[in-house]
Amino acid sequence: MARRALALVNVGAIERNVARLVRAADGAIVCAVVKADGYGHGMLAAAGAALRGGAGWLAVATAGEALALRRAGIGPDVRILLLGALSDEELPVALDAAADVTVWTPELLDALAADGRRIRVHVKLDSGLGRLGTRDAAQATALADAVAAAPTLELAGAWTHFATADEPGDAFFGEQLRRFRAWAEPLRDRHPGVLLHAANSAALLRDPASHFDLVRPGVAIYGLDPFGEDPAARDLEPALGLVSYVAAVKACAAGQSAGYGRRFVAARDTTLATVPIGYGDGYRRGLTNRAEALVGGRRIPLVGTVSMDNVTFDLGAGEGPAVPAAAGDDVVLIGIQGGERITAEDVARHLDTINYEVTCGLSSRVPRVHHRDGEPAPA
Ligand SMILES: *Cc1c(COP(=O)(O)O)cnc(C)c1O
Repeated sequence: MARRALALVNVGAIERNVARLVRAADGAIVCAVVKADGYGHGMLAAAGAALRGGAGWLAVATAGEALALRRAGIGPDVRILLLGALSDEELPVALDAAADVTVWTPELLDALAADGRRIRVHVKLDSGLGRLGTRDAAQATALADAVAAAPTLELAGAWTHFATADEPGDAFFGEQLRRFRAWAEPLRDRHPGVLLHAANSAALLRDPASHFDLVRPGVAIYGLDPFGEDPAARDLEPALGLVSYVAAVKACAAGQSAGYGRRFVAARDTTLATVPIGYGDGYRRGLTNRAEALVGGRRIPLVGTVSMDNVTFDLGAGEGPAVPAAAGDDVVLIGIQGGERITAEDVARHLDTINYEVTCGLSSRVPRVHHRDGEPAPA
């Protein structure tokens, strides 16, 4: 693999995170969410690791993602749940992928019934996220009954999605849980076998009452903390490392600048390391004069403007640089080196965003290199 900027993805960490979530789910089916290229980790590798870790199902957002999983060899024994809306163009793709689909309108129900294939359907109640699903519990019930009555359709699930599961102490989470339960439990009494599901990673980890029959963790399977805190505190192991190398080391005298717009001007003589990663790789421009990297096991601050292809770090002043580094040395932007660690949560904080966006945002220019605890990854 050409050395420049690489995402090193440890599928062993994903396996262990999923196994930990399987234990937390305490009997509920774990449906691992691998949408958006496995939150930037590589969808197929993430799916394989999740299944080895004990996930029973997979979930994706789009019909194309479901079909890509099937074409990569995910067989019919693994259910693929489609979480998103389906356009007219996507619907046949979803059905070709034999995905479980989500319904909340009579129009989509009619289209599914007209297709003639045997289709597994999940009805979605909008219990308060205000995005997809129907807010009308009576309509959701009528849809579920119609699915159950349709000869080629199977009522497979009834579900909802939380707005504030990642905000511990927020009362709306409990309110959504109450609304969902009031709708879904009587439904399951009338249609035994329908799977109830609601929990994302945050709900799975914070409240067993949200588990029902199946849980849908995404971010946590990658070892990212759904609450934006240190993943280690919840026994999650970050799977993704972002690494580059020192392309140039150069003196920067007091008064000299680095980068576009001269947004860093050295206050005293120092030494800079230029690292070939930038916003073209998804290492975002908002990190200008923020963030840190690791070199030789030491932390160095990012200085100047993040450009498309390069960024500069300050090695510090002294007799030579305070942090010694030479061209060719490894630079860790996310991950562990020596005793130091930078998490995706740390990077997210600098950007005023969430860890999800940090890993999803890594561009296709960054090769994903999969390994399992440093050994070749299983195929
Ligand atoms: C993405 C998604 C999930 C997974 O959420 P995480 O916060 O990543 O665990 C679960 N359910 C639905 C409907 C989603 O869209």
